[in-house]
Amino acid sequence: MVPAMDSNGVDAGLLRSRYRLTKQRAAVLNALDDGAHLTAESLLERVRAQLPGVSLGTIYRTVDILREIGLVQIFTHNGLAARYEASLSKHHHLVCNVCHDITNVHLPTLGSVVNAIATQYHYDDTDASLVVTGRCANCAREAPPTHIDSDRSERLFEETSARRE
Ligand SMILES: [Zn+2]
Ligand SMILES: [Zn+2]
Repeated sequence: MVPAMDSNGVDAGLLRSRYRLTKQRAAVLNALDDGAHLTAESLLERVRAQLPGVSLGTIYRTVDILREIGLVQIFTHNGLAARYEASLSKHHHLVCNVCHDITNVHLPTLGSVVNAIATQYHYDDTDASLVVTGRCANCAREAPPTHIDSDRSERLFEETSARRE
């Protein structure tokens, strides 16, 4: 049975006893405790704060094992570095195109869409991951798009007409 948890993270202490986690595995889960989606490098930094001397190779081996157990998930999108997160539940992602911030989204209604597609195309064993991209509220506040875009197109237009003369 899956232990009770909040949707953002995994209780490393509880899991340590349940799965007899090694020091490294517990440190990786602790580092991911706040629900962050971390690259292997950022994960290494956080783990080193608890266990100095840990190598990047150890991080990769450890997250591989934790993924096999089902405690860590990997998220890859559009050529960005793979991100690791401690999560037990199926979820989807909202990704900011500007700062690459990632937010977990729970979307139980997607299941019925997937089922309808599966029925129509006679598929079984289906799965689906939704990635919604856009601009987060922070980035929208810092850089209104219309101003920048109109500036750029005006400059392009000037350059083009200058070349023509
Ligand atoms: Zn952003
Ligand atoms: Zn996620």
